[in-house]
Amino acid sequence: MSRLFSFRFDVDTHRCVREGMPALVDLGTSLGVSFTFFVNMGQAVSRRGSLFGQRNEPNEAHPVAAKLPTRRKLGTVGYLEAAVANPKVGVGSPDVLRSAAIAGHEIGLHGGTNHATWQRGADSWSDARLAREIDTVLPALRVLLPSESVPGFASPGWTTSPALPPLLKARGFTYMADLHGPAAVGGASAAARGIVEPTSSACVSNVRTALTGEPGGVAYLEHLVASGLDRPAIRDRFRSDLREAGDEVIAYDHPYFAGIEGLDLVRLCVEVAQEEGYSVVPVSEIVERDMDIEGCC
Ligand SMILES: [Zn+2]
Repeated sequence: MSRLFSFRFDVDTHRCVREGMPALVDLGTSLGVSFTFFVNMGQAVSRRGSLFGQRNEPNEAHPVAAKLPTRRKLGTVGYLEAAVANPKVGVGSPDVLRSAAIAGHEIGLHGGTNHATWQRGADSWSDARLAREIDTVLPALRVLLPSESVPGFASPGWTTSPALPPLLKARGFTYMADLHGPAAVGGASAAARGIVEPTSSACVSNVRTALTGEPGGVAYLEHLVASGLDRPAIRDRFRSDLREAGDEVIAYDHPYFAGIEGLDLVRLCVEVAQEEGYSVVPVSEIVERDMDIEGCC
């Protein structure tokens, strides 16, 4: 089986979409590879003033792997803009999304009208609330894409719901990406562990993003930098993580780090993955290979 590697970038903030994403699109073009962007079409900050909800803030009950301060990733001006103006992220930058899709990158949906609100509470929302959140933003994304179809969905902050698969299926999605961290070590070898799992709804799979900072599903490269690793150490760590993860591997980060301060590290990872024999592809290509689509819509 050929080896597949995907970079999945969650576009949470206005700085992600305005600065980080265009830089990553240009990098992908220069390297001849395609990435996957899960885009928050709505706002980043909730009315309570929290940027991403409390869930990923470290505390004793919920330890979280090392990450960088939000102010460093947004910049001082960007931090104030997110806190005060709270602009709509994807809806506010349609040209960036359209250009990325035309350049061959995969665009998926990242939650509904507000990233922080979803992250904090979507696991307790009713089916009707989940549907309303998705339906409020999905049409604005669809019209920007050449195919007008959006195959992938990722829940903000990994806050997922068992109600999602049928809702996503009804809206034409083929997969969700709400599993994070290495698969549980079982009898199978790492290389034989599947990363695409069935859900309650036929034709919608749940795909695992193995390369994260754990616990808490922190962005991968950001976590390594926050842990104090330098470039050579990150290169070695990424190579060993790839080998451990198997033939299908997805890594997770955000454009406001990976597309700015971490851009050279993304290039490094693509080069290492290719040295290790992986094709760098959008997440949907891994899902399509693994899904049993017989009888599917
Ligand atoms: Zn996010």
